[in-house]
Parts: sequence; structure tokens; C-alpha cells
Amino acid sequence: MNTHSAILVTGGAGFIGSAVVRRLIRESGAFVTVVDSLTYAGNLESLAEVDQHPRFRFEQVDICDAGELGRVFALSQPDAVIHLAAESHVDRSIDDAGVFVRTNVMGTYTLLVEARRYWQQLPHDGRSRFRFLHVSTDEVFGSLGESEYAREDTPYEPNSPYSATKAGSDHLVRAWHHTYGLPTITTNCCNNYGPHQFPEKLIPLVILCALEGRPIPVYGTGKNVRDWMHVDDTAEALQTVLREAEPGHSYCIGGYDEHSNLSVVREVCGILNHLLPDPSGPYERLITFVQDRPGHDMRYAVDGSRIEREIGWAPRRSFAEGLRSTVVWYLENREWWQRVLSGAYRGERLGLASFETETDAR
Ligand code: NAD
Repeated sequence: MNTHSAILVTGGAGFIGSAVVRRLIRESGAFVTVVDSLTYAGNLESLAEVDQHPRFRFEQVDICDAGELGRVFALSQPDAVIHLAAESHVDRSIDDAGVFVRTNVMGTYTLLVEARRYWQQLPHDGRSRFRFLHVSTDEVFGSLGESEYAREDTPYEPNSPYSATKAGSDHLVRAWHHTYGLPTITTNCCNNYGPHQFPEKLIPLVILCALEGRPIPVYGTGKNVRDWMHVDDTAEALQTVLREAEPGHSYCIGGYDEHSNLSVVREVCGILNHLLPDPSGPYERLITFVQDRPGHDMRYAVDGSRIEREIGWAPRRSFAEGLRSTVVWYLENREWWQRVLSGAYRGERLGLASFETETDAR
């Protein structure tokens, strides 16, 4: 067991990052420094619960900026890093992969270099206590057959520009442990849902389309399957892994809750029919099948037995219960998502592989 007193969290203003930070402030005694460049996906309002806390600090820094990262390491003197900063939306990666290569690959590389520079000058005790926890995705393992489960030894087969850049970052993290001895740990987690998720992702997108009476888009046949986990379970898993895992290890984190996209959409509609009946009829009437995502992976599923066996962690929230509380959160926090939507993204279709949106490689 390794208790950390100063934790640097990259991407802490994002969906999962903000849940991790809120949890760390609430349930650990650690001083938390958030590094986030506040892209369209970063939102300081998701940190409103903790931003006045004496153990909280925010630094608006891009993880590709080595000089600024060096300054933040020196200032915050962390004994752990939780690295969540990334471009995270598959559809956007199809439209413009360059920004994904920049942040997910180059940004992770820059962070590793600065983390190692800082770690190397620590006294012996500090070096052995230090951890670099890299947060990655089950999407690096590619599309699985009906009865397959991704495990820590499953070969990498990323299929989207997003998952390819995350796979690249995982390999860099592995190499920094193997080559330089940096005490790294990697997690590969399944699909997350919960409060504060940017409304381009499936569940909040469905809720908002339904509330606004707009068509609810379902890609292709809607039969693609994902393994779902509540973000508060993920935050708990990451905190537990940071405390308990041995450097050099990786852990697959699964929700044991597989659902097709279409059944998720129908469940959200069913909850809304109950909580906020629409006089025009059940929300399912808005479901509209649209052109599939190019290269859409059919199924992701995670075997989480290693984290359960070695670390004693398993998810606690069922999808049914977590989905209902998530819908309630979006109904009760309209200001949060209305302000988010007043920015660049207004619910339009992304990810149709048009060259017009590609800004890189030229
Ligand atoms: P998110 O898009 O909600 O948040 C990403 C955060 O990173 C934002 O606050 C953004 O401002 C910040 N950021 C982006 N580029 C940056 C840069 N160059 N420098 C500094 N900050 C930058 O993402 P999320 O859903 O919270 O995912 C967090 C991490 O977890 C990502 O690494 C993602 O790959 C991984 N992950 C997500 C899921 C999921 O279902 N959401 C599942 C498994 C793994």
C-alpha cells in the first residue's frame, strides 16, 4: 500500500478527471494539482465542488508544453501523476486525427520526459514511492468476437485514429518503465458514463436530443456492444490501483455490463418516459438510424478478473441504477449542459470522414 500526499492530475477538468479530482479531495488527504489546457471538453464548472479547497490547485497548461510542465512539477512536488488528459472522442478523431496524435502521443511523450526528469532528482525514498498512472481505454484491443473478453495480455489491435493514438501512448508508458525504470501503471477501462460527460457522447447526447425533441441518432444497426461503467466506479478503481498496484503492471477495468447501443438508447428513453413524459408520445419515436461510423468496432468487453484478484477491486454500481441517476443529473443540471452547448459544439453529426475537417498532415 502506497499513500500519496501530492497528486498531479492531467485532464482533471474533463469528465473522468473531474470525478477523480472530486474523489481525491473528498476521500484522500492528498494535495491535488490539476493540469488541463481547457479544450472544448474541459470545464472548470465540473470542479466547482472543490475549487476553493485548500488542497486544490489548477494550472491551465498544455501537456505538450515541456517548460510549463517542468514548472508545475517543481511547484507541486507530486509523489504521483494520474494522466487522463487526452482527445477522447472517436468521431472527432475520424474528422481530424492530427490533434489526437499531438495530445495523446506527443503530449504523453512530453509528460513522460518531464515526469522522469523530476523523478530522477528525488531522494531514494521519493523515487520508490512515486507512481505514474496512465489512464487508457479498452478500445486499444480492437473489435472482439461475441464471446471474447479483453485482458491484460490481449494483443493490441486499435482500429480508430483515437484508439491508435491511445495505443501509442500505452506503448510509450510501457517503454519508460522498461527502459528508464519510471514506476508506471496503466489501466485500460471500458466505456464510462455519468454526470458531467460532454454531450457529444452517446448517453448525454440521447438525453439532450430527447429533451429538445430532436432525432436521436443511432449509428448503423445499433447492434454494436459496449461494456459500461459508472464514472464514480472508475474514479474509485483508479484511486485503488494507484495505492495498491506494483509498477510495470497494467489492469483492465470492466463494468461487467454489456449493452448494445440501441438498447442503451431505448433504456434512456424508457427512464425519460417515466420521469418526464412527453405529451407528443414516447421518446422512442425520435430514434433515427443514421449512416454508420466508418470502421465502427462491433464489440468491446473487458475481463476485470486481474484487478479483482490482485487488488480486490470490482465495480459496485449496476448500469440500471447508474443510468437512472445519470438521467436525473442531466435533468437537474440543465445549466451545466446548456453552457457547455453554448460553446463550439451544438449536437451536430461528427465523424463522417470528410477531408474538409482534417487540418493535419499538410
Ligand atoms: P474528456 O474529453 O472528457 O476530458 C479530457 C480532458 O483533457 C479535458 O479536460 C481537456 O481539456 C484535457 N486536455 C485535452 N488535451 C489536452 C492537452 N493537450 N493538454 C492538457 N489538457 C488537455 O475525456 P474523458 O472521457 O474524461 O477521458 C479521460 C481519459 O480516460 C482519456 O485519456 C481517455 O482516453 C480515457 N478513457 C475514457 C473513457 C470514457 O469512456 N470516457 C474510457 C476509457 C478511457
